[in-house]
Amino acid sequence: MAEYSVLQRRRPAFDADAFEGAVADFEFARARVPFFRREGREQGPARIDGPADWARVPLTRRADYRADFPRGVLARGRTLGEPGTLVQGSGGVGDDRVATAVRAVLLAARRAVTLAAHPPLRDAILGGASGRSARYTAPECSGVECASPYTPMERRTLGDGTLVLPSTPDPLAAPDALLGRAADELRAHAPAWLEADATALAFLLRRLAAAGREAPPVGAIVLTYTPATRVARRRIAEHCGPAVVAEAVTMSEFGWLAVECPRGLTHLNNRSYFVEPLAGGGRPAAPGELAEMVVTSVGDRLSPHIRYRTGDLYRVWDEPCPCGSDLPLCRFEGRSGTLLTVPGRPAPIGARDVDRAVGDCPELDVYQVSQHREDEVRVEYVPNVKDTRALEDGLVERLRALLGERVRLTASAVRYLPAGPDGRLRPCVSDLPVRPLDQERPA
Ligand SMILES: [Zn+2]
Repeated sequence: MAEYSVLQRRRPAFDADAFEGAVADFEFARARVPFFRREGREQGPARIDGPADWARVPLTRRADYRADFPRGVLARGRTLGEPGTLVQGSGGVGDDRVATAVRAVLLAARRAVTLAAHPPLRDAILGGASGRSARYTAPECSGVECASPYTPMERRTLGDGTLVLPSTPDPLAAPDALLGRAADELRAHAPAWLEADATALAFLLRRLAAAGREAPPVGAIVLTYTPATRVARRRIAEHCGPAVVAEAVTMSEFGWLAVECPRGLTHLNNRSYFVEPLAGGGRPAAPGELAEMVVTSVGDRLSPHIRYRTGDLYRVWDEPCPCGSDLPLCRFEGRSGTLLTVPGRPAPIGARDVDRAVGDCPELDVYQVSQHREDEVRVEYVPNVKDTRALEDGLVERLRALLGERVRLTASAVRYLPAGPDGRLRPCVSDLPVRPLDQERPA
């Protein structure tokens, strides 16, 4: 174990027990799961005696698990029909689509370990009398075949009792009648907690308030799917006063991966999975370095995931957090296509930094910063005031300070911002790819 303690100092988020668990999942997968036994597939080292051997285990991708689902990725003798098995689909578009099968008990255990970083949220979710939850986001990411308003509530209720509220492919274009119905259903379902896209929920609350209606009471709100902007969070706090609100990173493949603590910093679950933040050429990232998260399941005997490239970009640190949680600190930066690449700045700029620059403007309903060329960045925003001069000058000035002088920065007030094809309106989008793991290893 001496080697491990050195690693723990050098590699943020390295956990020796999770590593042993990942090795066991890999050995199980190689013995029992067709995909990992496939002829012609690179098999990795015969024996794993430590992290150096592990680094030679081939990385896997979404497409590997989707291509021959479920036959190729379930352990021999196991089926999707076993009680307690959740089959998750979609959660993305095109190459991002996910197909995965996981045991519900494993998902619950992963969530409980993650939630240790936020005790009030944990109490609201795990100690809630009803235990029920609800979900509000675009149908594309909601985990049901159809969250359209024409689908009856029963068909929008997941296996674990979660009610998926009705929505439209672009939640920010939903008509008031539908928003009212989502609110009515939420009130009737009375969930212990609500899982929501922050921007979509803020829009719902804004429209309810405009119609003179009160927001349904909810014990806790978990913000996920897209980065929660300050503008959206203020709106949610205004209308859902007593609710515990926290941001979480959840993935349809794995469940809960990270959660915001009461201090507002994000903690990574490095116990229920073996997590590897990897930078150029597959090198373990240094603390604070932008890296792709590669995840290996621990204790999954149904459909283990081995060195799975999530495509999600993080920074991970090894310093303690004042909240006292011993889960490592991280920052979820998004995926390629959601970070700005700016000339003169060595590291890409993610939605968090952009949002800090935009700030919490009460005159702003929603915004999007987009980049189509390296030297050009555009901010579009939906104001709720008539005179936007001061608002726009402030926005441009603060974004200019973040992006530097080498970028042409334009701002325009718009009445509406369309969501992407997956129903999400991301605060930050870029046509310039950022793929730290695929960069060449420096010579
Ligand atoms: Zn903390």
